[in-house]
Amino acid sequence: MSFRLTYATMHNSPEAMHERFEAALARVEAALGARHPLFIAGADRDAAQHADRRSPIDTQLRLGEFALADDTDVDAAMAAARDAFPAWRATPVAERARLQRRVGDLLAERVYDIAAAMVLEVGKNRMEALGETQETVDFFHHYADDFERNAGYAHTLPDDPIEGYASHNASVMRPYGVWVVIAPFNFPLALAGGPTAAALVTGNTVVLKGASDTPWAGRLLADCIRDAGLPPGVFNYLSGSGREAGEALVRHPLTAGITFTGSVAVGRHIMQQMAAGAWPRPCIAEMGGKNPCIVTERADLDRAAAGIVRSAYGMGGQKCSALSRLYVHERVADALLERLRQQIAAIRVGDPRRREHWLGPVINANAYASYARYAGELRNGGAHLLCGGAQLGQGSGGPAALARGYYVEPLLAEAPLAHPLWQHEMFLPILMLHRYRDRDEAMRLANDTPMGLTAGFFGGADEVAWFQDHIEAGVTYANRPQGATTGAWPGYQPFGGWKGSGSTGKAIASFYYLAQYLREQSRTVV
Ligand code: GLU
Repeated sequence: MSFRLTYATMHNSPEAMHERFEAALARVEAALGARHPLFIAGADRDAAQHADRRSPIDTQLRLGEFALADDTDVDAAMAAARDAFPAWRATPVAERARLQRRVGDLLAERVYDIAAAMVLEVGKNRMEALGETQETVDFFHHYADDFERNAGYAHTLPDDPIEGYASHNASVMRPYGVWVVIAPFNFPLALAGGPTAAALVTGNTVVLKGASDTPWAGRLLADCIRDAGLPPGVFNYLSGSGREAGEALVRHPLTAGITFTGSVAVGRHIMQQMAAGAWPRPCIAEMGGKNPCIVTERADLDRAAAGIVRSAYGMGGQKCSALSRLYVHERVADALLERLRQQIAAIRVGDPRRREHWLGPVINANAYASYARYAGELRNGGAHLLCGGAQLGQGSGGPAALARGYYVEPLLAEAPLAHPLWQHEMFLPILMLHRYRDRDEAMRLANDTPMGLTAGFFGGADEVAWFQDHIEAGVTYANRPQGATTGAWPGYQPFGGWKGSGSTGKAIASFYYLAQYLREQSRTVV
């Protein structure tokens, strides 16, 4: 059972929530600049090198110094996790679940401080940051509940009498060993905490590496896990670069399995590495999206516009689930565009520490530069830019308040179908649009990509089954103004990709998720 508390019910009123968030933000800002070590074998550990990290909100805002793990640190974390494994595996499920729920409760107690840190580190707005923290709380509870409810996925099977000897049979699921989790920058808490919770409750020990752009959120999770009282070595945290620490983890002989969330290119590389070594090891890779939405002539256009804008531009399009391809029936295209234009014009871009700013900066200088390049490619490739296209931050000559961050405008472009960006995941607030004539053409276009994560639909109630049956996507939403393609929640929407978007075809927080962290042992005794 998941909780999905809304902030209004959690804290009586939205105003109380904002006040508490602002108090936390002030606390967190007053403590900026600290040094953040690794967490290995139950203790903090300094690395040989640290990186000074700045906020994408304002590059003069110094967040702190974060440890850069090297091979020695990776070895130490892996050894600690290996040493802790036998006792953790033997710990009764009820005790593992209890500790796990305690982690969730500590995250919930610290929701405001953690969310404030994520606003500063990632540049997401406060509602997204609070939502992500709450989602992480739910992951810890959800997987504890799931594992207990399913009695550890153990089954007694019928006796089988052959030649007068009755054999007693059972199937049990056993953990693999040291599970490595590599988290992405965009959900540095939820997509670190979710796989960590799954690996821990099933009896694996964990080495988590945070994304190189967002080492702080993972360290705050590590603090909760430490304070919940998990035995030393059961969970270890590394910050550092993908090229060094990430690669060392992937190649490490003690790595028994891995959950990676990030790009298709890196995911494929990790899968190849995991297939090599002494024996092939499991890899749960949650990768990109190039997510479509189809709007038919029978759609409720107000709903459609609300859902489309949230999913294309929320968090600057930096979600695997973000909407990037919009197919609209030609008869309703102008009416929908009118609504989209109005809603996009109402988006407040700016410093996400302020409540009124819905859209903060993109994550780093590379993403910021890519935005300008893609806008240029759209223009040069015959697209018509209906909204946006300008950088607003560093070096843009835009508003002074934004001059030191990576701010950009939400972009909407009507683009020829031959444009190569229809196939390319940009991970930015860029939505491309095409007017279609018949809905089978729309479906063919929507499926014409090697990705298959989320997909949205707005149309008549009797068209929904057609959409769900034909769309090649792991997560589908119909007529949903809260988000055309985004906003899955543990316990409500299992979240996983088809095709190039996911390696296993089993979704996060689904009925089948935890089983991926276990290997089956058939037990027959005569
Ligand atoms: N779970 C998030 C959502 O549905 C997306 C996670 C991601 O971008 O990886 O919006």
